This record gives sequence, C-alpha cells and structure tokens, in this order.
Amino acid sequence: MWGESGEKGANLSYFVIATCPQYCGHCTRMDLVGNSVPQVSKHKFEHSPKERYDAMLDYLRKTPRVRDVVVSGGDIANVPIAQLEAFLMSLMDIPNIRDIRLATKGLQGLPQHFLQDEVLKAFDRIAQRAHARGVDIAVHTHVNHANQVTPLVGKAVRKILDMGFRDVRNQGVLLRGVNTTQKDLLELCFMLLDCAKIMPYYFYMADMIPNSEHWRLSIAEGMKLQHDIMGYLPGFATPRVTVDVPYVGKRWIHQFADYDRVKGISYWTKNYRTILEADDANALARRYEYLDPVYTLPPEGRDYWRKQQKPAVTA
Ligand code: SF4
Repeated sequence: MWGESGEKGANLSYFVIATCPQYCGHCTRMDLVGNSVPQVSKHKFEHSPKERYDAMLDYLRKTPRVRDVVVSGGDIANVPIAQLEAFLMSLMDIPNIRDIRLATKGLQGLPQHFLQDEVLKAFDRIAQRAHARGVDIAVHTHVNHANQVTPLVGKAVRKILDMGFRDVRNQGVLLRGVNTTQKDLLELCFMLLDCAKIMPYYFYMADMIPNSEHWRLSIAEGMKLQHDIMGYLPGFATPRVTVDVPYVGKRWIHQFADYDRVKGISYWTKNYRTILEADDANALARRYEYLDPVYTLPPEGRDYWRKQQKPAVTA
C-alpha cells in the first residue's frame, strides 16, 4: 500500500488521489503528485480508486487502534464530490474513527469549487453525519501569503464552518522571499484569522526536493522565525514551525537531537515504530539527518561541502 497510506499507530494518512489543482514547485508530495518529470520519477497507484478506497476502509474496519484519519492527496478538490462523499460516509460508519481531516489547497486556490451547489450540499450532508456520529471533521488548507486570502476564500470557509465543520486550519510552507520575515508571517496569520476564519496551525520547512533550494531555510533560521512570532497572536493561533524529517516524520523545529551549525546537519530521532520497523531494535536510537541549504552556512561549512563534491569527469 505504499503511496496510498502512511501509518503510525492511531493516526493514518490516506492519499485518495495523486493529482492536484495547484502543482506547487515545492510540493511536499513530489514523489507522488502529478506525472513524472525529468527530475523526479513519480510513484503510481496500481489500483482503481474504488479498489483502493475499499481496501482502505476494509483495513480500518479491521484495525480498531486507528483513531484519526487524514484524507489527503494530491488534493481532495480533485476527487469527484459523489466519490468523496461516499468514501467519507463509509469512513464515519467505522466506530473507532473519531477525527477526520480533509486536505485541500484548492480551498485557497480554487474557492469557487467549494461554492458550487453540489459540493455545498455534499459537504452539508457530511457535516450532519459527523455531528450525528460525534466525529470531529475539519478541513486543512495551504496558504502561504497574505495576498492569497481573498474574499472568496473567506466566503467558502464561512460556508464550511457554518455547516458545522470543527475547524479550517492552515498548513503553509515557509518559502524564502514569500513569508519568511516576522512581518510577512504575522501579516499572513492575521489575514487568515480576521478575514477568513482560518486557524494558523503549521508552517512546514520546505522539503529537500529538486529545484527548491532557493526557498528553503536553515534550521537556525526556522527557529529564529518561530521565536520572532511568539506573543503577537493568541496562543491557540500561533503556528508551529515544523520539519518533515525524511524517514522520521513531523517534528517541531527545535526537537533535533543534535545540530552541527557549521556543516548545517541536524540529527533527529523517532519516538514510535511503524509496522515496517516492528522488529528493528535500533529504530528508536537511529539518527536521521536534515540538511540546511549550503548557501546559509558560514564559510567553513560551505568549504566542507565543496570538498565533498566529486571532481567533474573530463574526457
Ligand atoms: S497543494 Fe499540496 S499536494 Fe498540491 S502541489 Fe502543492 S504541496 Fe503538492
């Protein structure tokens, strides 16, 4: 099921679709979303949507330890609404499912989608079922700049909240030059709160993927940004700066085990085993690396990485 789910105990992410209306250059699912490009070969789902959804639901029915599910992609805005509604209704019939989050950047980039009659009606039925079942259902969106918080985004969010969705939360990505000063980040958060009723929640460090080095921050810069935004927003609306460490998962920016600021290498550990690591005695002791962009390092750090480069092959 790789590419279709990622599990850790009581929390499960399901990738219901591999397309997206946005195709961000910094896509955090670059290994899955869209077609292969010269820089990245994408994974492909091997089964039809119906087969995959049935398998996911079947697994959840047999796995009562799973409490909360992220329904993600790609983007749920690209799933035909009847298909999405049927999947969510079945999901809410499973007694152990208590929390559902729907992931869509489309809410910001394509709010018109969520204002269509058939989508509004389906979301209303979904909210009613969630209320009847006592399930918390929320939408997670992805806004990176204050200018993206348009009146239509605010209107779509208001409709969703009025139906009884628990929350609409923002998971943005820190992009140098876009939102990585104290002023830009606070302005975005206040726009989200005051003009769209969206809860600032996370800001992810941009992933280490091809062609996004110019956007990325160092861990030291991310920690400074977290420091600089504290105390301005209500505590519940102060976003956490977060790193998605390869093979570890989500960590708050300061949670590294060690950090070599000269070489720009931070070291991270896990606090849980996935099913794949159940028999791995070293799983919790192993240290995983996250690398700062080389251009953010002091001269001796840049020199270290220059020496690591293999000499160019000449004819
Ligand atoms: S919205 Fe999310 S899934 Fe879509 S391209 Fe951007 S980061 Fe990737």
